[in-house]
Amino acid sequence: MDFELSAEQRLVKETARAFTDNEIVDRARENDRNEHFDLELVAKLAEQGYLGAIVPRKYGGAELDYLTYGLIVEEIGRGDSAMRTVISVQTSLVCSAILRWGSEKQKQRYLPKLCSGEWLGCFGLTEPDTGSDAANQRTRARKTDAGWTINGSKMFISLGNHAKLALIFAQSDPDEGHRGLACFLVETDQPGFQPQEIHHKLGLRGSDTAAISLDDVEVPDDGLLGEVGDGFKVAMSALDSGRYSVAAGCVGICQGCVDASVRYSKERQQFGRPIASFQLVQAMIADMAVETEAARMLVWRAGFLKDAGKPNTTETSIAKLYATEAAVRCANTAIQVHGGSGYVDDHPVERYLRDVRVTTLYEGTSQIQQLIIGRALTGINALVPA
Ligand SMILES: Cc1cc2nc3c(=O)[nH]c(=O)nc-3n(C[C@H](O)[C@H](O)[C@H](O)COP(=O)(O)OP(=O)(O)OC[C@H]3O[C@@H](n4cnc5c(N)ncnc54)[C@H](O)[C@@H]3O)c2cc1C
Repeated sequence: MDFELSAEQRLVKETARAFTDNEIVDRARENDRNEHFDLELVAKLAEQGYLGAIVPRKYGGAELDYLTYGLIVEEIGRGDSAMRTVISVQTSLVCSAILRWGSEKQKQRYLPKLCSGEWLGCFGLTEPDTGSDAANQRTRARKTDAGWTINGSKMFISLGNHAKLALIFAQSDPDEGHRGLACFLVETDQPGFQPQEIHHKLGLRGSDTAAISLDDVEVPDDGLLGEVGDGFKVAMSALDSGRYSVAAGCVGICQGCVDASVRYSKERQQFGRPIASFQLVQAMIADMAVETEAARMLVWRAGFLKDAGKPNTTETSIAKLYATEAAVRCANTAIQVHGGSGYVDDHPVERYLRDVRVTTLYEGTSQIQQLIIGRALTGINALVPA
């Protein structure tokens, strides 16, 4: 087992670290305060090649392996979860699905635009009445002579107000259950595609989140991604990549909590000495450091398995479950180390806590990850409908 990063991986990580410190960190607080989705910063992410890290060069990507992609996501996640969300959605949920399931024509049409940042993409799985039970899609796709007509609504869709391309999951025949599910590549300038901004979120205020209504949206036959009946598999394979990305971003938050707490505890004086010299403060920092390293190792293992082309759904769920929950704990502890100062946004730790809270909810809640892991261990699927 080799825990050493290659020279190239170290360089990519250091570059992403410098980019985060120079370009992201200062803007994150203002964007959070103003609920501003920073498209200028998104363009910079694209210039860096961070929107298509795992996409082959021939489609405009950087052709990096998963482990290296995870290193980038960790660094961006340390700076700003809103920007990390852009990378995770664009790269993992959208590009990876097109790469895996798309026709050559679809790959050539969409991947270069997505990698360059010319277009943003979004992933429309969740609906007002369909969350964890993702196979139970209420959105309907009806076959027509010209292609498909889609009707329904989607909820909590990241980047949904700015996306030019939406992956929309829909049921083509309710009697067929899973076999009727399909995924469509919907160009969002179609009449009937109507996104609406969702405001007043606990965190991720610098991230764009939409409710989308689809009223008689027309999609041509070649807008189908994979075949009818592949919809659930498309969603699950995209989530395998997306969960990895979320987990890597959470390692970044954990590391950010350690860094901020070490820095602050050495500066802050109480009882005539730095609070870092108190054993109970050191214990908090040590606990965060242990969780950070453990989360990072689980993410690296999942990345290693992906790069080796080995099954990794369970290991990815383990990484996602642990890293997200660890990041919530670390953000909470980091506020404790900062005392009252940690409760206002002069320091990044209160934003870390607000931003990280959603990671145990989206891309499968922690309970859903537990059921995926439990299914692998027991052979019993608790996720089947009653
Ligand atoms: C900011 C934000 C961004 C998002 N971005 C996207 C996006 O880009 N695309 C997208 O498609 N979705 C997105 N989502 C939606 C997200 O994936 C869902 O919120 C999530 O899947 C949970 O679904 P739900 O909210 O309907 O909760 P529910 O499924 O209603 O779950 C509620 C509670 O019940 C528990 N529960 C449900 N079923 C079970 C079970 N079988 N066993 C045990 N416990 C169970 C859950 O764990 C949870 O605790 C986003 C959400 C947010 C908040």
